[in-house]
Amino acid sequence: MGDAATLSRRRFLRLGAAAIGGLAAPAVIGIAKVEAAPLRGGQILPAPKFVLQPSAYRGVVGIRPHREGGFLCDIDLVLGAAQGKHIIHNYGHGGAGITLSFGCAMKVGSLVAKIIKDQPPGRPLPKVAILGSGIIGLTVAKQLRDTYPVMKIRILTKSASIAETTSIKAGGQFAPSGINSEYRTAGQMKMLRGYVADSLTRIKAAFHDGSYQKYGIRERKNYTVEPVADLDLCGPDILPLPNEGGLPFTNLRREGYEYSTYLIDPPIFLAELVREMGRKQVPILWSHEVRDIPSMLALPETIIINCTGLGSNARAFINDDKVKPVRGALAVIPYDQGTPANLKYFFSGGCVGGSPIAYMFSRNADIVVGGSYDYDNSDTTVDPAEIKRLLFRMNQIFIGNPDMCV
Ligand SMILES: Cc1cc2nc3c(=O)[nH]c(=O)nc-3n(C[C@H](O)[C@H](O)[C@H](O)COP(=O)(O)OP(=O)(O)OC[C@H]3O[C@@H](n4cnc5c(N)ncnc54)[C@H](O)[C@@H]3O)c2cc1C
Repeated sequence: MGDAATLSRRRFLRLGAAAIGGLAAPAVIGIAKVEAAPLRGGQILPAPKFVLQPSAYRGVVGIRPHREGGFLCDIDLVLGAAQGKHIIHNYGHGGAGITLSFGCAMKVGSLVAKIIKDQPPGRPLPKVAILGSGIIGLTVAKQLRDTYPVMKIRILTKSASIAETTSIKAGGQFAPSGINSEYRTAGQMKMLRGYVADSLTRIKAAFHDGSYQKYGIRERKNYTVEPVADLDLCGPDILPLPNEGGLPFTNLRREGYEYSTYLIDPPIFLAELVREMGRKQVPILWSHEVRDIPSMLALPETIIINCTGLGSNARAFINDDKVKPVRGALAVIPYDQGTPANLKYFFSGGCVGGSPIAYMFSRNADIVVGGSYDYDNSDTTVDPAEIKRLLFRMNQIFIGNPDMCV
């Protein structure tokens, strides 16, 4: 076991170094072939078997706000300068907004602190408007309220409720997925890892202060057939190195990996943040679209934080044409629909050659099964055949039939 573990770590470091050096950007970077001891000391975990009747699940489609060249989290040096406004952008987090939200909120916090520090002495705290009520806008609001208990902060959002955001449709794994492919040089990867590490600091703090359950945060193992580049990018200083060995499933007799990561359960997390903002006097103006730049600059606040996700590529608004829609579909299966409630793990991969991508995250009240990344597609229509295919694929993987991945 000791030798196998050493070999595994050495082998991982080789693969991980390739990913971190930018040589391997895709999500899946190789197939495990070495002999290794079973994971979990040979303990077998319950496997899913999804009922394929539409009454047993629901389909969801979300559009990831991917940004070519990586997300933007910085002050705009041009926009608003003539009007004495400070515009801070925080959007374009693609498939990783849940993961990056806290880290980016901390960066926004440091930009706001600098604006306050540079004010002439004796000035009152500036007023802040946050545009957008997804995970990015809400975590910025929390960060600023936690730092400045009496600052005037409000959220203006096009959404009528959190149910209309992309964020609530996310799976909720802590991993810089999708967006990691935009960070290729060592310097870029270091920057991305910095945001991920800052986010994790806040997640771990929730464990220390006992608020993790309230926010729907859980520790989770992710079992994978191949090494996965998004989690590998984190490196051992953020998440522990994966264990390598026989997967703990009766019919999926393969060698694979056990990663340690976290669930941040979007419906629970977002609802709690909305409640918290209500308690902490941060009003949310629902159904309040800021239609264009003149309307944004006419807001009474001097600091305006643009957390509009995909809205940032709207022709009438900021019009950042690097923001691209990436469609993703999920099957959501409540635990009372014949699925073992004690799965409590994630699974990624399993299809021959890693394509199509297949994943399953067990959450607090349900399991989500996904696996679609449709670039430049913003069609939010749920296709029942597609949702059924996701579940069929996952069933086939767990009965040991990855050739049936369709
Ligand atoms: C299927 C799927 C699975 C995913 N899984 C994960 C995962 O496991 N882990 C992870 O980290 N990430 C995941 N993601 C990615 C994550 O969902 C996104 O990165 C994140 O939700 C982006 O958050 P946001 O706040 O920027 O965008 P949104 O949630 O879309 O929020 C944008 C807000 O801006 C508002 N808005 C837009 N325009 C205007 C305007 N002009 N004026 C005022 N308000 C405006 C909108 O109404 C909305 O409230 C997944 C995404 C999908 C689709």
